[in-house]
Amino acid sequence: MKKHLLFLGAPGAGKGTQADLLCQTNSYLHLSTGELLRKEIEMNTTLGREVKDIINRGELVSDELVLKIVKQNLNKDNKGWILDGYPRNLSQANSLHNVLNEINQPLEVVFYLDIPEEVLIERLLLRGRKDDTEETIRTRVNIFKKTTEPLIQYYEDLSLLEYIDADRDLKTISSDIKQKMA
Ligand code: AMP
Repeated sequence: MKKHLLFLGAPGAGKGTQADLLCQTNSYLHLSTGELLRKEIEMNTTLGREVKDIINRGELVSDELVLKIVKQNLNKDNKGWILDGYPRNLSQANSLHNVLNEINQPLEVVFYLDIPEEVLIERLLLRGRKDDTEETIRTRVNIFKKTTEPLIQYYEDLSLLEYIDADRDLKTISSDIKQKMA
């Protein structure tokens, strides 16, 4: 069973939901950089105040900052982990590669949750998070296409990519993922 996983996909593709489902059956660490950043904002920490406006605009926070968060949280783990929302560009992917080498826990599989753009925009509007306004959604989808989408090819070239049709019901997607983890 693979235990070092990465979920890749546009905002609204269901990465967080699928990661949560998997963590119910496997006691993996669900490391969502977006979730951790939102907690910092909620707790009104220095870091939270620093990133609040950036996140509300739907832009990316700095590579250094997210790398720090990822390093801190990966160190806590030894059972297995699911990365969700990181990396989001090639520079982050390279940093991640180095960090994982250092801790001797290489990535075993990357699930790319694929979903048509019109479906994800609908989903995000329904979700109604603070950064789910129409304008912010447009920014986030555009950033995904421009800076995150190249990671699909990057992980394909490393023979780590598994394609998942994410335009299906939750359970079907989840069992598809579980099968491909075996
Ligand atoms: P998410 O919950 O993954 O949709 O992330 C919410 C927001 O947090 C994003 O729109 C970014 O502003 C920020 N964020 C999360 N992960 C990253 C990352 N890897 N790099 C830069 N910004 C991030």
